[in-house]
Amino acid sequence: RLYNEVIELKGNIRVFCRCRPLNQDEIASGSSSVVEFDPSQETELQIICSDSSRKQFKFDHIFGPKDNQEAVFAQTSPVVTSVLDGYNVCIFAYGQTGTGKTFTMEGTPENRGVNYRTLEELFRISKERCSTMKYELFVSMLEVYNEKIRDLLVENPNQPPKKLEVKQAAEGTQEVPGLVEARVYSTDEVWELLKTGSCARSVGSTNANELSSRSHCLLRITVKGENLINGQRTRSHLWLVDLAGSERLGRIEVEGERLKESQFINKSLSALGDVISALASKTAHIPYRNSKLTHLLQSSLGRDCKTLMFVQISPSAADLGETICSLNFASRVR
Ligand code: ADP
Ligand code: MG
Repeated sequence: RLYNEVIELKGNIRVFCRCRPLNQDEIASGSSSVVEFDPSQETELQIICSDSSRKQFKFDHIFGPKDNQEAVFAQTSPVVTSVLDGYNVCIFAYGQTGTGKTFTMEGTPENRGVNYRTLEELFRISKERCSTMKYELFVSMLEVYNEKIRDLLVENPNQPPKKLEVKQAAEGTQEVPGLVEARVYSTDEVWELLKTGSCARSVGSTNANELSSRSHCLLRITVKGENLINGQRTRSHLWLVDLAGSERLGRIEVEGERLKESQFINKSLSALGDVISALASKTAHIPYRNSKLTHLLQSSLGRDCKTLMFVQISPSAADLGETICSLNFASRVR
């Protein structure tokens, strides 16, 4: 509770930064980290630039290479569980490919990420509140690639992808007609469901990793709540979004399909940045319609909703340019 009150005071937008460890190849080639953490506080970091100058960045929280999935979820859980109180919530993982977006959100079987832990926590709290509240949880999974929306929970993922559209519904909310909503009853079935969705993501692509870095993957948890004492009903959404890689194009890739993909990615990531910074400021107009991503999220990405952005970075000197770009992006939305 206390944490939620703090959020209210500071506004509903939080930005966390997470830096992955150096990987085997980087260690083998003798790289050292260009990211310096202040051990006395978890909100500031310094980047050591190639001319040895330093750039400082501040966040609501910083996770270093030693922080595990539990530590990350401990800071994230108050935001996700506010969906049970009727808030709409969006959580994003932003950053260059290879910085740990999927690790943070999806995780691995041994190191499960925010997505699974969130459902686990929602089940736990629903049980705890069962004498006063009745909750039903539904899961949807979709992908936005080249400004097209695709359902990842269709029964037969080998069939041609089902195209979905965002439709304006009553009282200014957005709906995605035809999107599969799977009712979930327990954590046991959730991991399988999330795996199915992840697999559907790569169908039709020659290189699964490649495509996943070029598309946005969205997990939507719908919570229907009923207050057993006064009969009041709520319906809220929690979106957990693994964004496309934010890296700029290499010089050899500036043609054809790759160029088109990149333009769509740039457009949607900058539209997302524009929306979040408009929310953080007093601007009346919030430009949701500039991309499928922001249009899709419109009713969950408002001033009365909660937003959390993970900015994922690499500690490697080879990624310095992209790291600074990501940190600058994050400073703009904060
Ligand atoms: P992205 O989704 O941003 O492209 P990934 O999540 O696929 O990046 O991460 C790239 C690799 O780094 C993966 O092998 C992943 O397991 C590993 N990795 C990322 N972050 C961490 C971390 N915090 N701790 C340990 N391994 C990590
Ligand atoms: Mg990924």
